[in-house]
Amino acid sequence: MQSFNTYRYRLETFTESRSTKWSQEPYKGQRVDAGIQRAPGPWEIAAQPPSYFIEHKETIRVPYTSSIKKCDPCSGMGRNACSSCTGTGSKVCSGCNGSGQSPDNESCSRCHCSGCEKCGSCSGSGFNKCDTCDGNGQLLVFINLKVKWSTEKDDFVEKDDFVAQDSSGLRQEKLGKVSGKELFRDAQIMVYPVLGFPDVSVAQASERLIRHHQGKYTKNSRILQQRQTVELITITRVKYTWKEKPYVYYVYGNELKVNVLDYPATCCCCSVM
Ligand SMILES: [Zn+2]
Ligand SMILES: [Zn+2]
Ligand SMILES: [Zn+2]
Repeated sequence: MQSFNTYRYRLETFTESRSTKWSQEPYKGQRVDAGIQRAPGPWEIAAQPPSYFIEHKETIRVPYTSSIKKCDPCSGMGRNACSSCTGTGSKVCSGCNGSGQSPDNESCSRCHCSGCEKCGSCSGSGFNKCDTCDGNGQLLVFINLKVKWSTEKDDFVEKDDFVAQDSSGLRQEKLGKVSGKELFRDAQIMVYPVLGFPDVSVAQASERLIRHHQGKYTKNSRILQQRQTVELITITRVKYTWKEKPYVYYVYGNELKVNVLDYPATCCCCSVM
């Protein structure tokens, strides 16, 4: 049995990003306020995330951007020609296929010999209510502000011998699924690199990732909070022999996950522990 202790440094940055988009909805007497005063910019509108490090989205109608416009698809009529009967209100009779006569040469009772019947889609009117404006002929157009809160996360796992030494060793991505013993935790609007940590590579990773996050997430978003942790993850490599052949397995993380390489037999009578 051989022990490897590995540090995992994790930096999480909780960001807020904002974008605007023109939107519309049927006009039904909503408040029209465009031009009353200057519309606020995206970052001038108050929005509060429910909690730090929790994904969340919010859509806010930007004040002083709402105005009325004529509905395009129906040209302000509130209705469109019925697509089923092309606006005529009638269709070829389905009882006699338009001939006015039934198959046994009787007169068609469905259309009374006219060969046409009323269109079912528009009840014979030739028009349907416009979906875009819900029949009102007018739309309210306005700017919507979309606010998105998200957590960006980066891990640094100390490169240790256990990966390099043995090509069939425990893969580093496996460690992403386990937790370790938390040695250090720090949360604030902007964190500072970990100083004085005994392991130099952790301190370097901290500095590098913080610089990376603070550059990347201040371009199109704002950083509301950062959190950094250092965890100690224990890894034990166990070498054993089964039927004169050598095998290896790993026990790692707080969860004591077991990773078995080339497990010799899938029998139920032997326990690896
Ligand atoms: Zn008919
Ligand atoms: Zn119709
Ligand atoms: Zn319309």
